[in-house]
Amino acid sequence: MLLDTMKAAVLNDYGQALELEEVRLDPPRPGEVQVRIGATGVCHSDYHVIKGEWKYGLPMILGHEAAGVVETVGEGVGGVKPGDHAVISFRPACGVCRLCAMGRSVLCEGPGDRFKMHDGTARVHRDGQDLLVLARVGSFAEQVVVPAEQVIPIRDDVPMDVLALIGCAVTTGVGAVVNAAKVEPGSTVAVIGCGGVGLNVIQGAALVNASRIVAVDLLDNKLEYARQFGATDTVNGSAGDAVEQVRALTGGGVDYAFEVIGNGKTVEQAIQMTRVAGTACIVGMAPQGSTSSFDPLLFVNKETKLIGTWYGSARPRIDFPRMIELTMAGKLKVNELISRRYSLDQINEGFECLGRGEVARGVIVF
Ligand SMILES: [Zn+2]
Ligand SMILES: [Zn+2]
Repeated sequence: MLLDTMKAAVLNDYGQALELEEVRLDPPRPGEVQVRIGATGVCHSDYHVIKGEWKYGLPMILGHEAAGVVETVGEGVGGVKPGDHAVISFRPACGVCRLCAMGRSVLCEGPGDRFKMHDGTARVHRDGQDLLVLARVGSFAEQVVVPAEQVIPIRDDVPMDVLALIGCAVTTGVGAVVNAAKVEPGSTVAVIGCGGVGLNVIQGAALVNASRIVAVDLLDNKLEYARQFGATDTVNGSAGDAVEQVRALTGGGVDYAFEVIGNGKTVEQAIQMTRVAGTACIVGMAPQGSTSSFDPLLFVNKETKLIGTWYGSARPRIDFPRMIELTMAGKLKVNELISRRYSLDQINEGFECLGRGEVARGVIVF
């Protein structure tokens, strides 16, 4: 059913709760698609914005990890039609820029505005005022209008809450292992931070048959989750120096260390945990303005590599269907990641649980 007004959770001020409001949604313009949201994840990236650690402008509808059913398509849209089930990508893909040409569309540098449509106008309004939408999505709402290339059609027999997680946490975590770091079978891995994305780095490492997977966190309940997703060893960073503990467990360090918190200090630890010729990979997204320091000589005489990965270095049209096939084949655990389900009006409770580290992943189900 097409709506012209709908319920959405709006961020009106940093550090404040989201407010459930009635807003107006315009129909899709050429090259855009309207999607009825089935489920949307409660992700740390949204939380960074709520807390004001990332400031992009207000008022804004957050939400970027989402799946739903296509309601209607704008003029000139092909490849997706009403009734299709779809996972929403939170990155555009202009198709013609240097990065799209390289097959690196999640880094697309084509379209300009990240919080409105490609033509620079907004589709969501409140009392005549434009509302920004995070990543051109803004899925903390009953429906969204998004650029067509961000809508990836998918088989229609997968639960919406599982599909939603493919749109961020699963692809980011598993993709960091298989696309960015390219972890080889038999290698050793450490994962610092066992939240929704970190657990997916762990299960990605298990998927490619890493021999040791050391999970590092400060919370024992998260280390317990880590074991369920394939960690062979766990290290509680509050029980002594995490770097020393990982080195002791692995005979001097790991082949791959993943930082999945977004913290300058833990990035330094990831570098220190790698063995000679090892790779430290930054997955976590730090608050704007964070810094790390390291000994540059390490990168020469140990040939340490430091890499970063955005959105699992994914190609959504290839990787989303792959992640779903792996999930349906029982090789990735996605339903098991969902520890809480909420309705849209419980969204602030969802962020409180995330902030306290109580959940693997919380999902809002419509
Ligand atoms: Zn996310
Ligand atoms: Zn592009």
